[in-house]
Amino acid sequence: MTTANERDGDSETDDGPRVPIVCPDCETTSRVPLESVAETLERHNEVRHDGDDVASVDPDIVDRIADLAADDLGFLEDDVIE
Ligand SMILES: [Zn+2]
Repeated sequence: MTTANERDGDSETDDGPRVPIVCPDCETTSRVPLESVAETLERHNEVRHDGDDVASVDPDIVDRIADLAADDLGFLEDDVIE
C-alpha cells in the first residue's frame, strides 16, 4: 500500500524556482527558494561573517534570475529608439 506522504520532505519540493547560494568562505552551496534568497544570504552573512557580503547567489545563475525577473515584469531592454 502506497500513500502520497512525501510532501514535507526537504529534498525536491515543487514550490518554485530554487536558487543556488555559494559561500566561498564556508565552502558551501545550498539551494533556497527564490523568495527566501535575500533573507538567507543576509542571515548567513550576519551570523557567520559579521555582516560581510561573503555568501552570494551563484554568479552563473544571477544572469538567469535577472532574465526571469525581467521577463516576469515585462522589462526588456530592447526599447532602443533612435
Ligand atoms: Zn559563509
